[in-house]
Amino acid sequence: MTLTSFICTACGTEYTPSETPPPACLICDDERQYVPPSGQGWTTLDRLQRSHMPTFRDEHGLLGIGMSPAFAIGQRALLVRTPDGNILWDCISLVSDVTLELIRGIGGLKAIALSHPHYYTTMVAWSRAFGGIPVHLHAADREWVMRRDDYIAFWDGDTKEIAPGVTLIRAGGHYPGGTVLHWAAGGPDGGGALLSGDILQVAADRKHLGFMRSYPNFIPLGAAAVRAIRDRVAPYRFGSVYGAFWNAVVAQDGKAQVEKAVDRHIAWLDRPAD
Ligand SMILES: [Zn+2]
Ligand SMILES: [Zn+2]
Repeated sequence: MTLTSFICTACGTEYTPSETPPPACLICDDERQYVPPSGQGWTTLDRLQRSHMPTFRDEHGLLGIGMSPAFAIGQRALLVRTPDGNILWDCISLVSDVTLELIRGIGGLKAIALSHPHYYTTMVAWSRAFGGIPVHLHAADREWVMRRDDYIAFWDGDTKEIAPGVTLIRAGGHYPGGTVLHWAAGGPDGGGALLSGDILQVAADRKHLGFMRSYPNFIPLGAAAVRAIRDRVAPYRFGSVYGAFWNAVVAQDGKAQVEKAVDRHIAWLDRPAD
């Protein structure tokens, strides 16, 4: 009996090893994602290593790690390099030898932290490749872990410091456990960085931030949820906001842009019909 860890081609999530592909992807069946018109598809890490290649680029001072051609949701991961070790923020499905070699060459990885289930992907394979480092996930999203592993470190509450000056903040919104990472010494000018995944979605103009329960299915968030996101990041100083996709970086005045975006979101919710 051969067991295979199947990976959903629509969201990139790797499942607990099984003989045959799971009957459906629970993450894609949820109202925040979707099954493509072509139907549910599956691949494996072994196949991805042959069909795709890793891509690397400097994203305003952080190392971005993506895939070519684009795969599943299309996010890129970010490597946070601190004097106390490197942290991988969010994951991509492709774990390749060249990526591991490159990361090991710059000090390896000490921990992995994830914003929300859409980027859990092959987090277990990433952890194991670095000797079983902790994968920090907010416990409120526990039900969305499709491959359980001893290295997954669930955290509770609203904040958790995972390294000096590196704090996970539960912002909620898109998912109850929706997490952002604050890096006090991060950003191009060292003025602090907020790594936001799509919990605060950096818009195409790289100034505005969007807040939704579902981006592909256009399910909005109400005023209370958006105010809570603002209040939870308010105690932290940051100049830049790093979203989930290539180029999605608010490079300056990030904190003021978050305030503005929250005000604008709420103003439109309250706006009378034209
Ligand atoms: Zn899926
Ligand atoms: Zn998402």
